[in-house]
Amino acid sequence: MPLLSVDLNEASSATSLQPVEKNFYNGHIIYQDVVDIKSPSRGQQVRLQVEIDEGDYRGRRLPGGPNMFYYAFQKGVKVNDDGSEHPYDLGKMYDLINALKATWTCKNCGQTSTKKFVKEKSRYFSPCCGKPPLIDFNTDEWMGLRARWQVDVEKQQNSDDLRNVIKGARPLE
Ligand SMILES: [Zn+2]
Repeated sequence: MPLLSVDLNEASSATSLQPVEKNFYNGHIIYQDVVDIKSPSRGQQVRLQVEIDEGDYRGRRLPGGPNMFYYAFQKGVKVNDDGSEHPYDLGKMYDLINALKATWTCKNCGQTSTKKFVKEKSRYFSPCCGKPPLIDFNTDEWMGLRARWQVDVEKQQNSDDLRNVIKGARPLE
């Protein structure tokens, strides 16, 4: 991890530029890992950083800061103040896997696939067996995968600085 933080700090000074315009950009994953969700909630999130592949902003890293990531819940349960529990919405994760055409294995029927999950009225289903997704996947395999990233500009908390954020991902056209 020390090597990683040095790398990210260098990246921050190299890219302390104006944010890129709000738009969609083709880009590939340059960093991924899986982090635990803070207690009392439990579960895991995937977090990503992306580099723009084309155009005036080729080579720019997204989101817009050294310690900023694009997060998607991989699995888990949110525990509220009153002790009630709700499973995290994994839709963003299925959208991300669809966008990347990433490989996954269905735990219901055992098939390995890069096919898209089927979305119906904000619910998702596996294309192999039609059930709600119950899948294994390995984010180590996501390095270099490309997608079309929806990028926005937002003001930072307690600051007037503007930074890029990723709002979502689509498959490359
Ligand atoms: Zn299946």
